[in-house]
Amino acid sequence: MTRRIEHKIQKAICEMLHYALPPDAIFWAVPNGGSRKGGAIEGKRLKDEGVTAGVADLHILWAGRLICLEVKTPKGPHSKEGKQSDSQKEWQETVTQCGGLYAVVRSVSEVKDLLDMIGCQKPKRLGTQNNDIDAFFKGEGEIRSERIPTE
Ligand SMILES: [Mg+2]
Repeated sequence: MTRRIEHKIQKAICEMLHYALPPDAIFWAVPNGGSRKGGAIEGKRLKDEGVTAGVADLHILWAGRLICLEVKTPKGPHSKEGKQSDSQKEWQETVTQCGGLYAVVRSVSEVKDLLDMIGCQKPKRLGTQNNDIDAFFKGEGEIRSERIPTE
């Protein structure tokens, strides 16, 4: 059940990231969780290939910065369901030591807030930043030439 809820949250976060990230950012998921049908043999094979326990669910690479998002249910850190595992805590520490950013997120709005906080956003549309230009496109007012950047 928890896994299904977490899946829905992660899916919604991915849908938001597809349109909200700036052009110099990409994201991807690391499907580390879930059950492995291959048992210990497959586990060893994956480990040999670099699969690491505790790796965050989503990774964003933005202008040379790595942002790791561990998706959890909204239950919170005091519930077993919404709690990081020991390996996830170790991964958090490793990522942070290497200069990456790591966050446990429980909703789309938490991810949006995080991206806003660090300035990882799409550039604002022309007109929303400058009232004069906005008014011009609405057929009102005029743009004073000294306000128009030439380069
Ligand atoms: Mg997770």
